[in-house]
Amino acid sequence: MVLPFSGVDLFSVGVTEEHEVFRKSVRELLERDVRPHVAKGERDGSVPDEVFRKLGGAGLIGVGVPEEYGGQGGDALMLAIATEEITRVWPSLGTRVGGSGLFIIMLMYHGNEAQRKKYLPPVARGDKIGALANTEPGAGSDVAGIQSVAKKDGGKYVLNGRKIFITNGGIADYYVVSARTSPPDPSSRWRGLSVFIVERNQPGVRVVSRVDTMGLKASNTAELAFDNVEVSEENLVGEEGLGFKYMVGTFNRARVGTAAQGVGVGQAALEAMVSYSVQRKAFDSPLIGFQMVQEKVSETMIEVNAARLLTYWAASLWDKGRENEAIIAASMAKTYATDAAERAAIRAITVHGGYGVSTDTGVERLLRDVEVMKIYEGANDIQRLTILRESARRLLGLRM
Ligand SMILES: Cc1cc2nc3c(=O)[nH]c(=O)nc-3n(C[C@H](O)[C@H](O)[C@H](O)COP(=O)(O)OP(=O)(O)OC[C@H]3O[C@@H](n4cnc5c(N)ncnc54)[C@H](O)[C@@H]3O)c2cc1C
Repeated sequence: MVLPFSGVDLFSVGVTEEHEVFRKSVRELLERDVRPHVAKGERDGSVPDEVFRKLGGAGLIGVGVPEEYGGQGGDALMLAIATEEITRVWPSLGTRVGGSGLFIIMLMYHGNEAQRKKYLPPVARGDKIGALANTEPGAGSDVAGIQSVAKKDGGKYVLNGRKIFITNGGIADYYVVSARTSPPDPSSRWRGLSVFIVERNQPGVRVVSRVDTMGLKASNTAELAFDNVEVSEENLVGEEGLGFKYMVGTFNRARVGTAAQGVGVGQAALEAMVSYSVQRKAFDSPLIGFQMVQEKVSETMIEVNAARLLTYWAASLWDKGRENEAIIAASMAKTYATDAAERAAIRAITVHGGYGVSTDTGVERLLRDVEVMKIYEGANDIQRLTILRESARRLLGLRM
């Protein structure tokens, strides 16, 4: 045993030549069709529709979604690579794609065939936008603590509640929303939650306001209200009362994506640091000639590539069907990659001197963006708890 894993045979990464060909094509598209929109999009606080549609047309929103549901197929590793490349160029865009991704994952793994057939193709193609609405003003990390309620009334449910910090909240066409269908049982608080598909144009759905965040300025984060929203039984996801499992299951799978976002931010910081330190001179030497700058670049190279390996490893475990190990590896990857990207962004700012803190260069934005990534998809400190608790429960047969 290599605590907490059974053996070193689990430590392989399934990258093939096909993944590299795919990565290159994604990078080309991003550099050509997306990079020119980043600065203005960040100033305007939005991703232009044409950019999102371009990504959809290229199949980049439906990576990992089977072709019969409008996706381009592919494995978890391909999805991680796509996310890394998108985020390397524009973190806000990576988050917008990730918001639709949460909706997709929920329906792919927990929805029924009719729901998949109806909702996945338009979202996977980028014609419609998806979102997942779980967090509430009073509960985020504590998923079982949500207070939205859905009451059964004949063949429908009546949904009431508030959701906050919802990625794509103000622009999504479809939401998957969690609500209580029965009161919390003190012995198992997680029971009694259910998940529903809600369309934005349904009566009673209201975007209360956009939430302004320190980073990811072009990602739309919103507070939502659901006032007596009538949801037909057909839009209940899975079984009534098991919503907690579906939410946690969705976050578990999506977490590799947030790790990949961290790798993308770290890579962007590394590249900025290298190109600036080669060009910029001080005391008659390029900055890269100074050992303290070299150390910053080397440390960043170590950490970004370690983060990449952890992320690809977690994705490969999903691809091998090793769910128990994949969940733990994904928590490790998300925590390490976003923490490492924060350090990378700080080093990049330092190396850029005054230009590092100027909002013109885009370097300080990386730090603002990654601070948000450290919090969403399960705050990093929660991941630290998860790594230990899930290792004990899933791999070691211990109760904590
Ligand atoms: C820009 C943005 C986009 C988001 N997008 C979405 C989305 O699309 N859908 C969605 O549902 N949610 C979304 N969220 C919400 C996000 O997932 C939550 O903010 C996050 O899970 C933390 O929840 P909280 O904000 O309620 O903090 P809390 O749960 O109140 O936690 C606050 C702090 O306390 C710490 N803490 C809490 N409990 C413990 C504990 N047991 N032990 C140790 N430390 C603890 C946490 O680590 C954190 O640092 C988004 C958030 C942001 C900022």
